[in-house]
Amino acid sequence: MVFNQGKPPSTEGCAVPTIGVLALQGDVREHVRALEAAGATARAVRRPAELEAVDALVIPGGESTTMWKLADSFELLEPLRLRIKNGMPAYGSCAGMIMLADRIEDGVPGQETVGGIDMTVRRNAFGRQVDSFEADLDFAGSPVRAVFIRAPWVESVGSGVDVLAATGDRIVAVRQGPLLATSFHPELTGDTRVHEYFVEMLREL
Ligand code: GLN
Repeated sequence: MVFNQGKPPSTEGCAVPTIGVLALQGDVREHVRALEAAGATARAVRRPAELEAVDALVIPGGESTTMWKLADSFELLEPLRLRIKNGMPAYGSCAGMIMLADRIEDGVPGQETVGGIDMTVRRNAFGRQVDSFEADLDFAGSPVRAVFIRAPWVESVGSGVDVLAATGDRIVAVRQGPLLATSFHPELTGDTRVHEYFVEMLREL
């Protein structure tokens, strides 16, 4: 993937991707910090023009019904769908995973997502059992300490989706082409491996 198209070039020969963090609600600052630690340039995205100017997007944790309604009123829902349909890489954590799901269970009536990943995600699935917990996971071959907060899990995936992590028999991280999603919050642990995986993924696309 070629970065920085239409924008001032970064240091020649060493393209640094500019990754937006959807900043309608949720833990935006933590993602910005983790992305910069992983070698990317990160900036908040609130407006359609800001979305246009980034190479990729992180959709943070927060609350998916609030995020959906804010995305709708900021006129970002359709631009988000369009960019994802056109291949923009994106990473969604927790509420962001819900936003990237083609299908959701236990949403509020009428709840919409951006979609892109052929999966069914059950909202608040772990939350019904315990509000928050931590677990050591194998994430795509690396050990990761995962923090779950009223987290969703993935009920089912289509054949084009790779499962990157599970806890017990519950799927908690997936990838479909340029789209990555985790039920947990790697931005809260200071361990930047998941963000590094995303940045590396962009370089390989
Ligand atoms: N339960 C929240 C939702 O439905 C997600 C929680 C989170 O992002 N930590 O959006």
